[in-house]
Amino acid sequence: MTEPNLQPPALPPQVIQYATPAMYQPADGQQPIWRDQDRLIVPKLVSLPLRCVKCNQEIVDGWRWRKTLYWHHPALALLILFPGLLIYVIVALCVRQKAVVEASLCQEHRSSRNTKIAFTWIVGLGCIAALIGGIAISAIENDGMYVALGLLLFVILLILALVAGNMARIVAPTKMEGNFAWLKGAGPEFLNNFPATGRIKRPIRTAPNTMFPAQATG
Ligand SMILES: [Zn+2]
Repeated sequence: MTEPNLQPPALPPQVIQYATPAMYQPADGQQPIWRDQDRLIVPKLVSLPLRCVKCNQEIVDGWRWRKTLYWHHPALALLILFPGLLIYVIVALCVRQKAVVEASLCQEHRSSRNTKIAFTWIVGLGCIAALIGGIAISAIENDGMYVALGLLLFVILLILALVAGNMARIVAPTKMEGNFAWLKGAGPEFLNNFPATGRIKRPIRTAPNTMFPAQATG
């Protein structure tokens, strides 16, 4: 007996025709990808075209970003309020769905992303420093006000870091269902490469998910 391989196989260069109903397989053998307003609808194992996701510029140096993205229904976050964070984390880990996405960025958008990532790190570290600094100064000065100030700065910097980190994402899932993922973050020119869904809001009724057998959805 060998361990089941939970990692998806390496992406083949072009066609991935797993488990997608024949009616949704484009005739030209390309991967079925649509746009739905500002979002892309893609199979959960997808290699996007060799163009910058943000500005649609053709990528000549072959730069690729490959990432496993996770998603669960946002209403699950209510579990944080009741019964609590631990239960939320356990449930979220159990029910989350995943997609593996390959995409590209042009030089310009790569460097802009690097700047945002660096900014996120600096602000994130600053947020921890504010908290520790507040406690330390408060102990030295024997004045509780510095703890409050440190906490306030911590919250402000934390929010800033979360916003910057979010902006640094290339694409992010807003929904997953069946064998498909909805991704936001692509620029309008890139989105225009793909047909609009029109009235197909749910391109989904699928065969069992063969991509991630451990997570087959009902
Ligand atoms: Zn670009």
